[in-house]
Amino acid sequence: MLKKELQIFTFEDLLSHFPYKHLDKTSVQPIGQISPSMEYVQVRGFIVSMEIVGERRARRLVAQLRDRTGILELTWFQGINWVQKTLAVGGEYLAFGKLGFFLGKPQMTHPELESVKDASASAKPSMEPVYPVTEKLKARGLNGRAIGKLTEQLFLLLDEKQIPEILPAFFLEKENLCSRWQAFKQVHFPSSPEAYQQAVYRLKFEELFTAQLRLGMLRSARHRFSRGVVFSKVGDYFNDFFHQYLPFPLTGAQKRVLKEIRQDTGTGRQMNRLLQGDVGSGKTIVALMAMLIAIDNGFQACIMAPTEILARQHFDNFSAMLAPLELSVGILTGSTKSAERKKTLAGIQDGSLKIIIGTHALIEDVVQFSNLGLAVIDEQHKFGVAQRAKLWGKHAIPPHMLVMTATPIPRTLAMTAYGDLDYSVIDELPPGRTPILTVHRLDDARPQVMDFIKSEIKLGRQIYFIFPLIEASEKMQYEDLMQGYENVKAWFPEPQYWISMVHGRMTADQKEMNMRRFVNRETQIMVGTTVIEVGVNVPNASVMVIESAEKFGLSQLHQLRGRVGRGSEKSYCILLSGSQVGKDAKDRLGVMCLTNDGFKIAEKDLDLRGPGDIQGTRQSGALSFRIADLVADRAILEKAKIYAEDLLGIDPDLNLEVNIPLRQFLKAEKGGTLWGKIS
Ligand code: ADP
Ligand code: MG
Repeated sequence: MLKKELQIFTFEDLLSHFPYKHLDKTSVQPIGQISPSMEYVQVRGFIVSMEIVGERRARRLVAQLRDRTGILELTWFQGINWVQKTLAVGGEYLAFGKLGFFLGKPQMTHPELESVKDASASAKPSMEPVYPVTEKLKARGLNGRAIGKLTEQLFLLLDEKQIPEILPAFFLEKENLCSRWQAFKQVHFPSSPEAYQQAVYRLKFEELFTAQLRLGMLRSARHRFSRGVVFSKVGDYFNDFFHQYLPFPLTGAQKRVLKEIRQDTGTGRQMNRLLQGDVGSGKTIVALMAMLIAIDNGFQACIMAPTEILARQHFDNFSAMLAPLELSVGILTGSTKSAERKKTLAGIQDGSLKIIIGTHALIEDVVQFSNLGLAVIDEQHKFGVAQRAKLWGKHAIPPHMLVMTATPIPRTLAMTAYGDLDYSVIDELPPGRTPILTVHRLDDARPQVMDFIKSEIKLGRQIYFIFPLIEASEKMQYEDLMQGYENVKAWFPEPQYWISMVHGRMTADQKEMNMRRFVNRETQIMVGTTVIEVGVNVPNASVMVIESAEKFGLSQLHQLRGRVGRGSEKSYCILLSGSQVGKDAKDRLGVMCLTNDGFKIAEKDLDLRGPGDIQGTRQSGALSFRIADLVADRAILEKAKIYAEDLLGIDPDLNLEVNIPLRQFLKAEKGGTLWGKIS
């Protein structure tokens, strides 16, 4: 039962099944000071009366416990006779239990009672642990407190030798950590709230530290042992492009990342690099130039995007930029027509197509590369781990991987969430961008908003209107969007204004056509759902209107906002909402108005939402910690990471005498490959 429900197989598992709270029996409350905010309390007093009241089902034993400050009513519905026999009117007792209130008076049903005489002799823990259990276990009578009995028994069998220290002694001293044995003991049966906090801190530190060690060792093993194709040189394609056709000078951050990629790919080891950069920071050109290095070395390169629109956009963009180099660029998506498809597949297979852009279609088995040297994944958080992993298999020696994401998360968190990936960041926006002005407006300010939009359109700019997809049924979503479209149309009638629309129900061709008309400025307004959230680039668009903005998450709002402010024009993001907005939503909108900085927004998002499913990492299991919380314990994580790096810097394989316990611990740990290969 424990096995199936809680994954508890061994004593160690039981030890690591931590209580989620303790019932505090260390303190005794004066009855007069009991308040409804207390959940469990312990009181001490004399039983002054005891009687059976009620009939049949309502039959119960009621006792009055009195201390100097007041009276507490104790009630039993079961075991009445036994209780009556064991309790003595006039005796002094400690009563512990869950508090209830009836007509404003405090009461306790089925309290635990202990005569004060016995209590002083008994060595019962004063903070009693309560454990998480499943409903099924509860139904079988194994509740959160019963597990405590098991744990208690277990501790009777254990001593310090069986839970030896694994951290080097100087750590304990420097970080003021309690011993491992103490930590386990105190986390279950703390002698005081402070001791409990110390134990928790120690266990969190240990968990995060060992996780960082494991990651660091995986990374370094990959650096030392994995095989990768070698890009030994930078050739004509790269150089010609760099010197003659680059449409703008690269930012310092872009150059730095290219250097990092260049270094990785030249070593003979497989590159596995995560590239983080805020929306609009210019990741695409970095990917393109990395691909040119692959081609310079006789390999093919591909980039996989999460949507058809984005793939198409990359294709147009790449084709235009690479035209002077006479490089053949191909595109493969779900909607590529069969004749075209055959040709493209052949080109991929015989190697005549050097650069291939596509969607998920790229990972299908029919796609056989001649010699794939580099695979780029754009907006990687939109892909599952398995999908990414599939690209590995597209070449005998796995291709170099560059995974790009625009949803920033703090560096340490990223490195933990992404397991053994190396990490690059573009932390600098291209020059000449004017910051986007973000405002929150209530629905009744719509007329002014629409007037403003008209004035922007007059200036030749373009506008996005985004509607949320939140209703339960797809049909309703669709109808909401259509309603929204009609509303927008009423404000902006043809033929003065033309509107594009993109949504999930359209065929790829329809989306494509609508998008193209917007890109070509045949329409001034784009109405859409979050389908357009990802990566779309129309520099002339200067206003992003988000309808029912309170229904979007922070990172999504930030992504959407990133669709504007891509040219040199002043851009605006207008968040519309009704006047009834919840507190969290209000916070989110407030943050959006305050800052454009994706990293700040990511931090705030984590605070508000918790780690949730950070960029699809949940499936990788990388975020399942027993006691630490990657978000709440960020500060410990940072520290643990530094310690881990220092340690591995000195002793990469943990061969030193002092580190052997650590090495053995890591080796013995179940699921040592927990992190797996993430892409
Ligand atoms: P993202 O990182 O969100 O994918 P993009 O690669 O789409 O961003 O770049 C956003 C815009 O910035 C594009 O129009 C791109 O051409 C432009 N851009 C990228 N790098 C630079 C640069 N160094 N200088 C000027 N503009 C740049
Ligand atoms: Mg992009």
